Parts: sequence; C-alpha cells; structure tokens
Amino acid sequence: MKMTELSWAEILEALELIDQPGNIVYGVPKGGMIAAGFLERAKRTPFPEKANIILDDLVDSGKTKAWYMQKYPQAEFVPLVKHEPGEWIIFPWEKEHPSGQNDSIQENITRLIQFIGEDPNREGLKETPNRVIRSYGELFAGYSKNPEDLFVTFDNDGYDQIVLCKNIEMFSTCEHHILPFFGMAHVAYIPNQRVIGLSKLARLVDIYARRLQIQERIGEQVTGALMKYLQPKGAACIIEATHMCMKMRGCEKQNSSMITSSLKGVFFEEAKARAELMQLIRGK
Ligand code: ZN
Repeated sequence: MKMTELSWAEILEALELIDQPGNIVYGVPKGGMIAAGFLERAKRTPFPEKANIILDDLVDSGKTKAWYMQKYPQAEFVPLVKHEPGEWIIFPWEKEHPSGQNDSIQENITRLIQFIGEDPNREGLKETPNRVIRSYGELFAGYSKNPEDLFVTFDNDGYDQIVLCKNIEMFSTCEHHILPFFGMAHVAYIPNQRVIGLSKLARLVDIYARRLQIQERIGEQVTGALMKYLQPKGAACIIEATHMCMKMRGCEKQNSSMITSSLKGVFFEEAKARAELMQLIRGK
C-alpha cells in the first residue's frame, strides 16, 4: 500500500484555490468539515441553504457526491486531494491525534471494536488494531504482486500433455463479508511452446487468493493469466472451498463446500481433455 502523508502546508495550499471571493463552501463531515474550518468563506451551519462548493477530503464513493449533488444541484463537488486506488492518504488531523493511536486506519479498527460492543481499552484488545493491520498485510498481499512476474518460462521439450499441480492449499477472504474461505485448488495446462515451474502455479493461486475475492473469480483469473502469459493449448483451475460466511452465519450450512471450475482452450472445447483432467485430479 502506498502511504501518502499530507502536511498542514499542503492542506492550506489546496484550500487557497477554493478560498475565492464569491464562494460559499460547505465541508462534508468529517474530513471536509475539518478542512473547511480553516476557510473564511466556509458555512458553519449544517446544510446551509446556499453553497456553491461542496468540499470533501477525498472522493471515496460516488454515494456521498451523488447525495450532495442532489441537495445542491448548482454546486461543485471538490475533493481536497485526488488519490488513486491503492493509495492511502493520511491527513495531518489524523496523525496528530492526542491518543497516540495516531493513524486513521488504527482508529477505524478501534471504532469497529466499539461498534461490536467491546471496550477497545481492555488489556487483551489494546494492541489489536496494530495486529489486525499486520495480519491484513499478509491476507491481502496479493494486491502488491504482479502475476506476470511469475512467468519465467522454459522450452517445453516436445511435451504436449497435461501438466497438473493438484491439492494447492488456498486461503482467501470473501468480498461480501470479509470472512475467510479456504480449500484446495487444482491448476492444469497443456503446453504449446513454453512451460513454467510447478511451484509457480501455486504462487499464481496465492496472488489472486490473497485479495478480497469470490471463488469463481480466482479460478477465472488464474486461467486468464495462464492463457495470457503462457499461451498454452488449454488451462484449467478447479477449486473446492469452505466458506466461513456460510458456516458461521447466514444459513449455517455446516458441511457445505463449493466447487467451481474455470476451463479454457482445449479443456473447454474437448470432452476428452476434460475427462483426462478430472481423472488425474481424482487420482485414478
Ligand atoms: Zn461471504
């Protein structure tokens, strides 16, 4: 994750562009309101009748903007900073928090602990925000890795049969509930000109699994990367996984598992290639 720390000087500089005669600025809570507090032309009442600039700290979701645009159709929606996906902005008012827990992400986790009804100051929970951040670094390491880097390929030496790496342990996190799902992945391809090391197939699964995911997409991304960078005759990824969001909550189906398959090239087109692959995976 790219961290960008903003200084007060940078904030004030960005504000100067907005602090023009004729402007009536309203800051969106919380970040935009803090920034607008430095402006003479800021409206200090909630939802003023007139405003021509709606100031937000960042544009995070279209929802906030849409809501304000409906309320103030004549106004301009202005983010204080523009940021890219994968960039984490730390504002000066976040890092100067007197509690010492001075990073905004830690504060968000502390708020989450409060939300579930816990006391974030309890002995066992004091270090939890920091631990969560560290473990997220591992669980979501896939975002900072480029699958293309794995494709150091070799000549296939005339081999044109199935290459299968089976029983790859897979751990992922579901994007709907941020709960784990885990199981086995089987990845196969039939080479054209080039082959790659078997361990690379396991690492390819890892790169995509260590993100917020749905099971179907992991398979599609794995076979998509194989087709793109290795250009084999066919690629397949079969995943069998258990979803904690089904086991622990919702319908609580304790013994259910989900199987998905993504088949490309000859595995999709030819029943014979598919049957042979299934036989290899079942171990017969
Ligand atoms: Zn889920």
